[in-house]
Parts: sequence; C-alpha cells; structure tokens
Amino acid sequence: MTETMARKSTAHTSIDFDRPGKQVGFIDIPHSPHEDAWGATRIPLAVIANGSGPTVILQGGNHGDEYEGPITLGEMIRELDPGKVSGRIIVLPAVNIPAVLAGRRTSPVDGLNLNRTFPGDPGGTITQQISAYVSDVIFPLGDAFVDLHSGGSSLNILPSAIVEPAPDPEHRRRNIAAVLAFGAPLTVVIDNLGEPRTSTATAVRAGLTTVGTEMAGAGTVSIDALGICRRGVRNVLGHFGVLAPPVHAGGQAPGSQGILKIPGRDGYVLAGCDGVFEPFHPLGTNVRAGEPAGRIHNLGDPARAPEVLEYACDGIVYGRRQPGRVVSGNCCVTVAAPYEGDIA
Ligand code: CA
Repeated sequence: MTETMARKSTAHTSIDFDRPGKQVGFIDIPHSPHEDAWGATRIPLAVIANGSGPTVILQGGNHGDEYEGPITLGEMIRELDPGKVSGRIIVLPAVNIPAVLAGRRTSPVDGLNLNRTFPGDPGGTITQQISAYVSDVIFPLGDAFVDLHSGGSSLNILPSAIVEPAPDPEHRRRNIAAVLAFGAPLTVVIDNLGEPRTSTATAVRAGLTTVGTEMAGAGTVSIDALGICRRGVRNVLGHFGVLAPPVHAGGQAPGSQGILKIPGRDGYVLAGCDGVFEPFHPLGTNVRAGEPAGRIHNLGDPARAPEVLEYACDGIVYGRRQPGRVVSGNCCVTVAAPYEGDIA
C-alpha cells in the first residue's frame, strides 16, 4: 500500500512552544557528513512567552553575512524579561547557522541561498530542511514575522524597513502599518522581481503580517544601522502589543517621510562587462533616468575607454555594490523611486 509522502521533518527541538517564560535552545536537524555520522546542525531558537497576546516571529541570519539582526536578537534573548511580554516571541537569531558561522550569504554545506529555497523540502539538503522547518512548523505558530536583513557582503544599502507586497488590500495595510512602526529612516517596497521563494513572500502567503529590513551591509556591523535595528525591533513589538508601546520623543512620526519602491528591473543597474566599477554618486543622491551612474574600467587595457552605465529610472541611489571588482551581470547600483501604490 502506498501513501502520500507528507512533509515530515526529522528536525527536533526540546523547546515547548506553549510553555510560558523564557526558553533558549536549538532546533537540531540530523546531519550526517563524513566527520559526524549521527550528529546535528543546531539552529539557535528562543521562545519568550507570557500572558495572552499575539505571536511574533523574529528571524536573523537568513543570510550569514548580515549582522545587525543577529546581534539585536541575541541581545533580546539574553536581556528581555519575560514578565514584560504579552503574548509570545519566537526568536531565530541565526536561522541559517552554517552560513552565519561562515560569514557568508550562502550555506557552505550545500551552496544554497536560504532565501531562495522557501517553502523548502524536509527531505532536501540542510538549507532546504531549514526553510521547510520555518515554513511548516514556525510560520503556523505566528501572527507576524520580522526578517532582519542587511545588504550583505556585496551591497551597501541605506538602512530601511521593507514592505513585502501582499495581494490582499487588508493584508497590505497590516504589512505597511507594521513596517512604518519599525521607524527606519526609509521605508521601501521590494518585491524581488516577484520572487516567491523568499521567507517574507512565504510568510505573506501564510497570512502573517510581515516586516523586512535592509540595514547597511557591506559585510560589516554599522553603528548607525545597529541602533536603528535595536529600536525598530522594539517598536514593532510595541506595535503588535507584545511589548509596551514605545514612547516617541516627539517630532517626526515614524515613516512620515514617504514610502519608496524598487521599480522592477529599471531599479537595478547591472554591469555590462568585467572590470572595476567607479560609482558617480553617493547613497541618497537624487538621480534621473538616462543620467550616467558610473563606469567600468578595464585596468589591464588602459587604452580602452571605460563602459558608462546609466540609471534606468528616476529616484534616489538606494544601494551600491561592494567591492569594486565586477563581472558582467553584477548589480552595481540600485535605485528606489517613490511608491505610487495604495497605503491604506
Ligand atoms: Ca539579505
């Protein structure tokens, strides 16, 4: 007799998701490489619960070279008094642990980018098993999901909170309200060209109120972005009522500077040849379509004229490639334009 193969994981945690108080431990995913036949990949997990209220899932380390989120969530695990919580916080501070320990965007175990594997596969590689556990076990427990990214080693991005588009207007309104509550200097709608395999796109399909971030990047820890990330996570937990609401010190309301969007392919300036990219504008500069964005130098053939790259839309310079060396197809500059869609 055959039966349909269910999505059943061999991953295990000793944490009881229903128990009040603070529990800190791991999700163990059995892993059997040459060095360790019967061991496990251990993904840090904490659950901080008290009283009644919503469940907010906080995730960092989706990409292993983006540090503000994991640092912020580690502090929260160590310092947050569970008595201050109304509801439940599920914390995955270093969800792609092999990539986090290697300081790399992609996993050194199977070469995969976790954020292109959702909803994952419980019978797949380690990275696919991680995304399957988050999709199948963690997301059904949550009302809201916060995925803390920074630009990573190849990008430096203006610190911003990110809206994952939701097709349903009421869901879109929830997402935008939560992202504005984060209170980052910029709020940007990013759809990753319609990519469905990210954790935030998958969380939206699961009905969760969803918040993303991009905090600086370049594979370093930014002092400014870390401050923004710490405040933003507390602000969002206050927005959901899981922590006491934050007290804003007057002045500008969070997000009142307007919302931006990466306008599809026109927002990405890609290298047309190999060489070294010379940018023409600092982050935050207002630019126009057709204006030169920078040029690519062929350092081995100085007689050859550099290739000039142009912006394809009006907006602000939102992100820029690091390091200088590029090959054809690398993203050199990203432009964000005003968001024209519905907010309410
Ligand atoms: Ca990222």
